[in-house]
Amino acid sequence: MVLPFVVEPLESRGRVVRLGASVDRILAQHGYPAPVGRLVGEAAALAVLLGSALKFQGRFQLQTRSDGVVDMIVIDFDAPDRVRGFARFDAERLKEALAVNEAAPAQLLGRGHLALTIDQGSDFSRYQGVVPLDGQGLEQAAHQYFLQSEQIPTVVRLAVGETITPEGARWRAGGLMLQFLPQSTDRRRQADLHPGDAPQGADIQQGEDDDAWVEAKSLVATIEDHELVDPMLSSERLLFRLFHERGVKVFEEQSVHHACRCASERIEDMLRRFTPQERKDMVGDNGRIGVTCEFCSTHRDFDPKDFD
Ligand SMILES: [Zn+2]
Repeated sequence: MVLPFVVEPLESRGRVVRLGASVDRILAQHGYPAPVGRLVGEAAALAVLLGSALKFQGRFQLQTRSDGVVDMIVIDFDAPDRVRGFARFDAERLKEALAVNEAAPAQLLGRGHLALTIDQGSDFSRYQGVVPLDGQGLEQAAHQYFLQSEQIPTVVRLAVGETITPEGARWRAGGLMLQFLPQSTDRRRQADLHPGDAPQGADIQQGEDDDAWVEAKSLVATIEDHELVDPMLSSERLLFRLFHERGVKVFEEQSVHHACRCASERIEDMLRRFTPQERKDMVGDNGRIGVTCEFCSTHRDFDPKDFD
């Protein structure tokens, strides 16, 4: 579910996202080891937090490329409510990272870049923002993204956990994003960081911080991981705990589910674009061309004769 909210006295607005079955599907169907699952779950929560801002039909993609144990993550969010994703990791390097206790999500991610792409269809231009990953993890990278690309002071919290259900352990992920959007643009500018002024990778300090934004950020900083993943704690209760002294208004909650956009027809179209010789090389021992979707692990078999 995604729950948008506004804290008017602090001129801040944001969203809470809590993923249950959708993130469990993504992580379980790929059988990711727990440390990888934590990182991919964070990426899924972040992608839904950011992608659910799309008002109409549109596609949002979060993609990482880095030198870490997990060297690639791709999460797609199709507005208004569909999410899918996969990651690539090195099992040997994961073993080594676990042996030296360096398998926290930010450590597994390493250094590289995070690309966020918004595609609102042919009538709109495609937009891509890229921020460096310097070992700081996805929360910090998201802050940088908003400061660089949209110049909106933003704070993001992400958490992933497993809960025990009668059917066994199930993954959950959650996140909260808060943005400072005062009426006065001067105030907004003052609260902005100026990432261009600081050397890359430096811990950028905010200049003249706005009191309302300082308060909003300090409240978000009190969120504990379990509050974002506990199925017994509703998003409304979490927001009430954080902002009840100021007053928080919530909007309509929206559900999110796992769905893949792969389809047999589209794969057939793709196979048709290869030469007959190339298709011949793809035929497996069973005499058929097998294609497995990276996102949902669905395996499909095609008869090479259908393409001749
Ligand atoms: Zn698929």
